[in-house]
Amino acid sequence: MEYQAIIVGAGPAGIFSALTLMEKGIDGILLLEQGKGIRERTSSPSREILCGWGGAGAYSDGKLTFSPDVGGYLGEYMSPASFRDLLSRTDGIFLRYGAPRERLFGDFSPEVEALVERARRAELEFIPNRIRHMGTENCRTVLCNLYDDLKDRIEIRTDCRAEAVLAGEGLARGVRLEDGSVERGRFVIAAPGRSGSRWMKDQAEALGLQTSVSPVDIGVRVELPAAFLNEITDLTYESKLVYYSRTFDDRVRTFCMNPGGEVVNERSGDLITVNGHSFANRKSENTNFAILVSSMFTEPFRDPIAYGRYIAQLANLLSGGTIVQRLGDLLAGRRSTRARIDRCLTTPTLKQAVPGDLSYVFPYRHLRDIIEMIEAMDRLAPGVSSRHTLLYGVEVKFYSNRIEVTEELETGVKNLFAVGDGAGLTRGLLQAAASGIVAAEAVAGRLHHEPHDS
Ligand SMILES: Cc1cc2nc3c(=O)[nH]c(=O)nc-3n(C[C@H](O)[C@H](O)[C@H](O)COP(=O)(O)OP(=O)(O)OC[C@H]3O[C@@H](n4cnc5c(N)ncnc54)[C@H](O)[C@@H]3O)c2cc1C
Repeated sequence: MEYQAIIVGAGPAGIFSALTLMEKGIDGILLLEQGKGIRERTSSPSREILCGWGGAGAYSDGKLTFSPDVGGYLGEYMSPASFRDLLSRTDGIFLRYGAPRERLFGDFSPEVEALVERARRAELEFIPNRIRHMGTENCRTVLCNLYDDLKDRIEIRTDCRAEAVLAGEGLARGVRLEDGSVERGRFVIAAPGRSGSRWMKDQAEALGLQTSVSPVDIGVRVELPAAFLNEITDLTYESKLVYYSRTFDDRVRTFCMNPGGEVVNERSGDLITVNGHSFANRKSENTNFAILVSSMFTEPFRDPIAYGRYIAQLANLLSGGTIVQRLGDLLAGRRSTRARIDRCLTTPTLKQAVPGDLSYVFPYRHLRDIIEMIEAMDRLAPGVSSRHTLLYGVEVKFYSNRIEVTEELETGVKNLFAVGDGAGLTRGLLQAAASGIVAAEAVAGRLHHEPHDS
């Protein structure tokens, strides 16, 4: 049997590809996912939290980001107007499947404008960012609804890993599965996500696809009392702040701000890193966000993922997982101990984090950048650089090497499309899902025009 389209990965990119193909009247769609089905998945940090129906998005905070400057590079493949339209159509699908309509934040206002100005005085660039906050619990509902709608109309195989994309004479032919069997398909859409970046890299090498190296973002998750940032988070929910460090002139930024949220461990294979999320209806007393330093390597080193893993492994080596340290201890040149964390005025939401010393983990460059960023943020929101602010490490964002694709997101191999975070094109839910739509629309268009093998 030959499928019309085989999709690898059931994250937002893969699911929205499948949905679009189905809605365009394409039969014979196979969706492969190496992880579990949505109702079998667990959010336990000891499991593969990034894999399964819904991908990395399943236990995410569910923020749909509308700013073209945040969440990926998809806007580079189309005009600004088409991009706005695409993001709005994608949001419409999230709404159709149960995303909360009312939870929109960050619309431009005189108050936001004043904040931008105050940030500038603190040497920070404030990027206004309109978002829909679904919340972790609603994310799951949306994913369950999508699964229920698709399950009888396309073929979905969970616990099924694609080993390799098959191609011959410059044309995609299908995929080989882990058990050695082969599924033939006229089109292949690769949507393996961040957890599949190594896999995507291997496929690119095997198939001779052109790629460019992406930066790696390394840093800490910061946690402090929610009140310190209320003024900002009430207005914009999440603030995107960028700082160019005094000592190194590095680009340092805040990422994934979670008012009333929780810090969580994230396991990817043998690596434990830290992340954060928040529920729409269950709030902690704290706000957390990441401070990330972007590092881009040139010559001769071309493996930023290995570099990021190496730093994160140091924290794992020293603590068995994630280290937590009070900012005051870091600045005083001493480790945090259980007793010091117990008398900290910020109560940690990630109980498994081991009190320790992050200066044993980070290169001087990263530590200096992070401290300078905290000082700048303190000028905008006093209290951020309190001795009782908690730092968890390591947070690291691996971005897949970017696959060279056309405007339809087709790779150098005909009929092989690459979408989402795994292709290095996107970094967030909305753009990942939107990239799936772009590829699927191209595939459906061609299948309608060339219904039989050429
Ligand atoms: C904790 C957390 C919070 C986040 N919060 C937000 C947020 O609030 N807002 C936001 O915009 N983004 C957020 N993100 C990022 C967002 O989840 C991703 O950008 C998005 O999920 C990318 O979608 P994707 O479909 O490209 O990849 P993924 O969601 O990673 O899905 C890829 C899927 O492919 C599967 N796969 C990989 N290789 C294979 C293979 N060989 N065979 C079969 N299956 C395979 C994987 O198991 C995975 O399920 C968060 C991420 C995390 C981890």
